Amino acid sequence: MIARPLLLALSLCMATAPCGAQAPLPDLGDISSATLSEQQEKTIGNRIMREVRVDKDYIDDPEIFDYINSLGQRLLAAADGPRQSIDFFVVRDDTINAFAMVGGHIGVHTGLILLTQSESELAGVVAHEIGHVLQKHQARFIAGQSRASWTSLAALALALIASRSNSSQGAQVTEAAVASAGALQMQTAIDYTREHEREADRVGLTLLERAGFDPRGMASFFDRMLKANRLNEFKGAPSYLRTHPLTTERIADIQDRIEHGRETILSMRVSETTEYRLVRARIRAMSGSPTEAIKYFRAQLEDKTILRPREEVYGLALSLQRNREFDAAWSTLEPLLKGPNVHPAFLNLAGHIKSDMRRDDEALEIYRTALNAHPGYRALVYGYNEELQQAGRTRESLADLEDRTRGNPDDARLYELQARAMEATGRRVAQHRAQAEAYYRRGNLAAAVDQLEIATKQVRGSDFYDMSIAESRLRELRILLENERAAEKALKIS
Ligand SMILES: [Zn+2]
Repeated sequence: MIARPLLLALSLCMATAPCGAQAPLPDLGDISSATLSEQQEKTIGNRIMREVRVDKDYIDDPEIFDYINSLGQRLLAAADGPRQSIDFFVVRDDTINAFAMVGGHIGVHTGLILLTQSESELAGVVAHEIGHVLQKHQARFIAGQSRASWTSLAALALALIASRSNSSQGAQVTEAAVASAGALQMQTAIDYTREHEREADRVGLTLLERAGFDPRGMASFFDRMLKANRLNEFKGAPSYLRTHPLTTERIADIQDRIEHGRETILSMRVSETTEYRLVRARIRAMSGSPTEAIKYFRAQLEDKTILRPREEVYGLALSLQRNREFDAAWSTLEPLLKGPNVHPAFLNLAGHIKSDMRRDDEALEIYRTALNAHPGYRALVYGYNEELQQAGRTRESLADLEDRTRGNPDDARLYELQARAMEATGRRVAQHRAQAEAYYRRGNLAAAVDQLEIATKQVRGSDFYDMSIAESRLRELRILLENERAAEKALKIS
């Protein structure tokens, strides 16, 4: 569902191609007028991400989120030139799609991740999207639409997203808007983007190879997608093919490039991660109904009595936990917890299952040991603190969170956990202050200011120290909010 903001914004831009002709065309000779400034890009990107992050299909799961970001950063680190900041996220959606948005935000659908058969294939798609961002295709496309049309269209797109999430009628409006973009406009857009596709492929292939992935993954995945589409194996055309025109010619181009670098490929060591397979299993376990997921993994594991792939055992244990069959989940997971170097994902699931069973002491023990071995694993940090709070050890959790926010001052989830603990101890000012910090880190300044306003209006249960921090923070964030609103207003997207 989230892919819609971009798709919609794009479709609407395409839909206006005829009206764009009446507006003054940008001077193509002058590059500066054909691109958005970095600040403008950031403003538009933040505005869209504010909607995306609260969408129910935006995946906030720390293990999935951290995986896609580490994959993206590994590819990005292989790029030339000044380091550009790009963030990555996963959207719960069965359709095959990946997309880049203005301001450096790249989203990947769960459906696409499940369709890949190796990490190099997934890396190929992500690298291609990074190529679009590094080449500023989105920004150039938007800027090329003439300011008058794209700013009001961005505003309309956002209004539609808002109405969609509030009512089922909104969904129909959006669908209609996307459909009305029409084939003709699509065609003109395709001519425009074919060049960009080639550029993104070229940049993507370089990143893939430098980052230690198999560049053939890009060609094989695109080829499989194209064939499956021709044989109508997809329900309707996958969104990816609509936004990224894919032709046999393009695939041949990619294969050509790979052929040229054949010797390097034959001598290179492809390094794929365990996390790729675990995250895929995790996504599979979360998809469909819990019983469907259990059935899927049981079928995968059938006949595999000796060599049971760890990710499939993990997937089955996760699906069983999701179905609240905690004993069965535990006995499935147990073999993965033996031996040296147990993966933190298994330890995290172990902690969660014990926590679900209300075996609080055992759960805490698992988390403590696991955190000693993997102090930076976010899922364990959150699981540990949730468990402490469930066991009524709120003060211990607060002390731990205090410590951790000092080390990771940008982690929104830590502040959310802090807010929950503060609420349990009746510290209302501190609760709303922590909630404000969480919103601020999630890019929602207006909600952060709201929380601080609530905090500063508290009469009971407030101490002087908490209150004075809340007041000065409120002044600070109000100024940031005013600046943001002014910037959005200038772009007509507020
Ligand atoms: Zn593309």
